[in-house]
Amino acid sequence: MPGAPLPTVISANAISRRVRELGAEISTAYADREPVLALVLHGAFIFAADLARALTTAHQVESLALASYDGRESSGEVQVIKDLGCDISGRDVLIVEDIVDTGRTVSAALELLEYRGPRSIEVVTLLDKPSRRVVDVTPRWVGFEIEDIFVVGYGLDLDGRYRGLPYIANADALDLNGAP
Ligand code: 5GP
Repeated sequence: MPGAPLPTVISANAISRRVRELGAEISTAYADREPVLALVLHGAFIFAADLARALTTAHQVESLALASYDGRESSGEVQVIKDLGCDISGRDVLIVEDIVDTGRTVSAALELLEYRGPRSIEVVTLLDKPSRRVVDVTPRWVGFEIEDIFVVGYGLDLDGRYRGLPYIANADALDLNGAP
């Protein structure tokens, strides 16, 4: 990892405790069902991997990729880059997001998947920035609410860097190329 350590916003220990709690709550909610975890690439890949291992109920893992960001700013338009690999009609779907910011990405994912007739569809996000919301969307499960700061780590990047940090860090001090 380049440069000095970035300021910690949420420690690796706090994340792992919270992911275990979410795993227990979600397992209870989906007891006797087999939800499809629709993980939104790339940011949610580490959260989804840990969450899947915290679930005690059967589940299927699928992924989709949407694009809305260029550097730190949302472009306002969401494109489907990669779709799910299974039919979700009649299935229980849980969208797994890294962060809900303006809400555009997750509401585009909801719209795309709802159209296919799932039995139920819910959202779990590791991070939520409610103060930035532009589209009215409320995830059913939220790991942590954070302020309006740009964060990296635990799957979240700045132009492709920092996803491997084991904690959530404040990246407001970095320039747009992710350099200190
Ligand atoms: P939204 O469409 O809700 O504005 O943004 C959702 C997507 O924007 C997330 O999946 C994530 O990729 C990106 N994003 C929003 N806020 C942050 C942030 O603080 N840090 C990083 N790394 N990505 C963010």
